[in-house]
This record gives sequence, structure tokens and C-alpha cells, in this order.
Amino acid sequence: MAASTWPGFSGEGTWYKGNLHCHSTESDGDRSPADVTRFYKSRGYSFITLSDHRRVTDISDQASDGFLPIGGMEIDGNHALTGGPFHMLAIGLHALNAQQPGLELPELLDAIAADGGISIFCHPYWLGTCATDLENLDRCVGVEVFNANCEVEIAKGYSTECWDDTLQRGMRFFGFAHDDAHWRSDDFGRAWILVRAAKLDEASILQAIRDGVFYSSSGPIIESLGIDNGTVTVTCSPVAAIHFVGDTRYGQRTAAPVGESITSAEYKLDGRERYLRVECVASDGSRAWSNPVWFV
Ligand SMILES: [Zn+2]
Ligand SMILES: [Zn+2]
Repeated sequence: MAASTWPGFSGEGTWYKGNLHCHSTESDGDRSPADVTRFYKSRGYSFITLSDHRRVTDISDQASDGFLPIGGMEIDGNHALTGGPFHMLAIGLHALNAQQPGLELPELLDAIAADGGISIFCHPYWLGTCATDLENLDRCVGVEVFNANCEVEIAKGYSTECWDDTLQRGMRFFGFAHDDAHWRSDDFGRAWILVRAAKLDEASILQAIRDGVFYSSSGPIIESLGIDNGTVTVTCSPVAAIHFVGDTRYGQRTAAPVGESITSAEYKLDGRERYLRVECVASDGSRAWSNPVWFV
């Protein structure tokens, strides 16, 4: 297999940290839009979407040097296309400022796309969604693989199996980690994405997300990730284990001895993997998830 690299882990660009899922007093969150913005600015985030339910809360006046608000909302409903209830993030909206009642799901997703937006399926585990429900959702760029609010409040934050199942069924979904902060529990500053882009503007960040040029984390940092001569190598901040996750039987878990840590791992590709993703697991349970690369 020829040398190649993971999107984002080569060439020019800067890693920008962002959270695309949080709520304010404009829907069911406990903090005002200004307080929400202040929190993420103070934590060094480069961009956020304040994704209130069914309506866009305009925080464009909070833009500053090095901080980019991106318009969006969380839509919801119940539709056969998703096998039942759905919550989805609509990110990068301009004219569309509310979920129109009565507009059904395919047309709603078309309207989001026509407005320049991106759709992301939220917290499948919490919703009770399985991969077969997502098979026809090719309008979504990905799923939330981790949702901090769902984890903190009812221990249903991890949707890794659902994600893997969609990948195995041929969906080309990227994986997102988000706070979904409602500010009543410890659900803020816990999950984010790191987007690699040439510059911090909306067009660059949204295009990088569409292209999968990002990874998700609730703690660990992925320093490098690439493939050379059939071997995948990852380096990261100190973690307890590094997982290489492919389809069916393909993959590998590399773990540090109990009480110790590792900062790199290698995986020799079998050559029959259809895709592979990497997950770095810290001793405190926090994780980093790369997006998959596809070989077929
Ligand atoms: Zn939701
Ligand atoms: Zn939410």
C-alpha cells in the first residue's frame, strides 16, 4: 500500500478547537447566550455553534479576533426516514432561522443544505437509534460518537457501536464529540472537535468538516497519524490504550501496562480492511477519535 496520510495530519493548516452543540436560555439551557459564549471564549475555543432547539440564536455580535460563532440549531421530530425520533444539528445556517412546523424530514434536510448548512445526527444511543435507522441518511455528514450531556446525566453518551455499525454498512459517516451543554450538570467543556483549516472563517471550517478534516476528543491529543508502507502509526498525548478499529475482524488494541502510559502505537494493515479509524483512550476514560480512512 502506498504511503498516504490521514486528512488533516499533513500539510499546511492550523488546528481549531470548537463545539457545535450547546444550548442557552433561548431554549432549554440554563445560561444566557452571552454567558455561553464567554465560557467557550475563556476556554480557548476558536468556534462554536449555539444550537438551541428548533431556532437559531443569533450570536454573530460575539465574533471577535480568534472566535467564530457559526449559526445553527438542533432540529427534532419523528420520521420513517430515521426509523423514529431524531435530533439533528443543522450547522452553518444563514437564512433559515427556525425549524418550520410541518416540513418533513427529507425536505427539511434539503432546506438546510440549500442554506449552505451541514446536518449531523445527534446522540443515537440516547435516542434508541440503531444503524439500520441511519442507512438512508446520506444527507448527514456524520453522527455524534460522544455526547457529554447524555453521558453525564444518564450514561448514554457513547455511540461508538452505532457509528461502527453504520461504517460497516457502507455509510461514510464522520464522528463528532460535543458537549450538548445545558449547564445544569457537569456537561460543558468536556467534548470538542479539532478542525484543521487554512484559516478561521466559516467557509474554511465548514468545508473541512464536510471533508472530514478533523478529529474529536474529550481529552487526548492526537499528534500525528499516518500510513507508510502498509503500517499505520499514531502518536498522541499519554494514554492507557490505542485502538485501531476496522470492519469485522480487523483491528488491534495496544495497551500500556497497568498504571503506565503510551504515546504511540503501530498497526500493520492486513490489506483487506475496508476502512480504519483510531481511538486513543486515556486512563481517566477520556478519548480521542480519528475519522475513518477508507481503502475501497
Ligand atoms: Zn438532542
Ligand atoms: Zn442538544
